[in-house]
Amino acid sequence: MKLIFATANDNKAIELQELMGDFIQIQSLKDLSFTQEIEETETTLEGNSKLKADVVFKSFNRPCFADDTGLEVEALNGAPGVFSARYSGLDCNSSKNMALLLKNLAGFPNKKARFRTVITFREEKETIQFEGVVEGKIIAERRGNYGFGYDPIFIPDGSQLTFAQMTLEEKNKFSHRARAFAKLKAYLMGKINT
Ligand code: IMP
Repeated sequence: MKLIFATANDNKAIELQELMGDFIQIQSLKDLSFTQEIEETETTLEGNSKLKADVVFKSFNRPCFADDTGLEVEALNGAPGVFSARYSGLDCNSSKNMALLLKNLAGFPNKKARFRTVITFREEKETIQFEGVVEGKIIAERRGNYGFGYDPIFIPDGSQLTFAQMTLEEKNKFSHRARAFAKLKAYLMGKINT
């Protein structure tokens, strides 16, 4: 079975293929030479995830899925949330995003945060969403060199290490994305077996 993943990010597509195993072949937007920029105009992870899946489904008329992820910090009322990628503005990058987050969180004793991923699977007759969450906390100093985004300042519950101090294999034991993908995989396996 071939399934389109609405992402142009090769790392994500490779990570997903590893989690899916052999029974489904993931095709990324790059694999399909789809170069159109999909603007994320919704204000929720659910909305943007669905928006991306809808655009790709309409383009190829084949089963596909999309994901959207945000870091939700409790003391900041869920910010940066759906704006995690562009938290620090137009010329943002991970370092600036982390610096702004730490500045905004500095006065708060509550450092609880969670990563949340929403996947939308779309086919002709059905649209279904899956959520993956990892709870944890934000630390004030960056630790570790692996990973990306906010990984150096996030420690998942049940670990002493930040995501950036873990290999991808270790991170996937906790990760929001891996948890959401596991739900998608279970759903697809159920579909294939019925
Ligand atoms: P996306 O929806 O997967 O593109 O994620 C949006 C943004 O959330 C990214 O640009 C990162 O800033 C942040 N993010 C998503 N997943 C992770 C993660 O696993 N670790 C750290 N930051 C992440």
